[in-house]
Amino acid sequence: MTALPDLSQSVFSHEEIVALLSVVDPQDVEAVRAAAEKVLLKECGNGVYLRGLIEASNVCRCDCHYCGIRKSNTKVRHYTLAQNDILLLAQQAANLGYGSIVIQTGERQNKTFLDALEKTIQLIKTETVSDALPQGIGITLCIGEQTEETYRRLFKAGAHRYLLRIETTNPVLFSRIHPADQHFETRVHCLQRLKKIGYQVGTGVMIGLPGQTIEDLANDILFFKEQDIDMIGMGPFIPHPDTPLGGVACPDEATRLHLGHMMIAATRLVLRDVNIAATTALQALDPAGRERAFRFGANVMMPLMTPGEAREDYNLYPGKPNLKETNNDYQVSFSAFLNEIGRTLGQNQWGDAPHASRGGGNSPPFSS
Ligand code: SF4
Repeated sequence: MTALPDLSQSVFSHEEIVALLSVVDPQDVEAVRAAAEKVLLKECGNGVYLRGLIEASNVCRCDCHYCGIRKSNTKVRHYTLAQNDILLLAQQAANLGYGSIVIQTGERQNKTFLDALEKTIQLIKTETVSDALPQGIGITLCIGEQTEETYRRLFKAGAHRYLLRIETTNPVLFSRIHPADQHFETRVHCLQRLKKIGYQVGTGVMIGLPGQTIEDLANDILFFKEQDIDMIGMGPFIPHPDTPLGGVACPDEATRLHLGHMMIAATRLVLRDVNIAATTALQALDPAGRERAFRFGANVMMPLMTPGEAREDYNLYPGKPNLKETNNDYQVSFSAFLNEIGRTLGQNQWGDAPHASRGGGNSPPFSS
């Protein structure tokens, strides 16, 4: 059994992160969890910030071996939301006090799509201005690898955060779970480009991939630190039956769920002042899995706003919870849950990570 490192320190070696991720004894898990929660409250405060998640299109040019909407999956019914629908959803998010939205799509690089997206971002920024949100709703994009020029255009249009998951920082594992035309180095360059342009940059990994080790996961956390990442969105790997990785052996669900929570805690201890999302993949493995993530250091929640008929088609992994998160009852019960654990809902705020304004990242073009 590996001894726990000093949990009050702020710099952790690879070996120490491996020790954090390896804990299974309930007392040790609680010690790591409590330390992560303490760092979160000290560095980021007790707010939980909401980003309304709009899955605007499930069309994708890529063929990632784990993804349910990969281009080779002929069972996917393709959709792209109309501009007006996206605007209405953004307005609904603003009315609900979310403060921010995430626009997520498959990776599309064609001009028509990108021109329309640029225009949509501009309109959202204008139309969501209110007394509560004087600079409009905050916009995070999650639309994959793009050229530097595209990243610049969309930043100028008003998006100020970008999420691009690296999925794994082990280059050998990366090449095993992606087709030959996708490269680890390209994705790293994209992350660096986004940072240079001024986005607050998010990334993340899948936890419990076939062939992934605890040492790999510790390296993932060190990569987040080296790349000066502002936001983390990661969750357990969930095999999709219609993909090449659908039948490949991986750790059992309980192990992936446990590791999902420990990754959040360890990332909080190492990166300290970044935003970390409690992702729905945690909920897919356990109905309480996502809420539990808030006790392990997460401080961002992404309520699903995609309309009912489209959300079933954005099927990245099976068992994705079909949550009615934009109704009032859910908001009330989520607020009550946060109160119980000493946290508050950060309404009408962009909820940027303190890291982004502490010189750890570039300043956002606007502030709220
Ligand atoms: S993971 Fe993203 S880029 Fe890869 S196939 Fe799925 S939607 Fe496309």
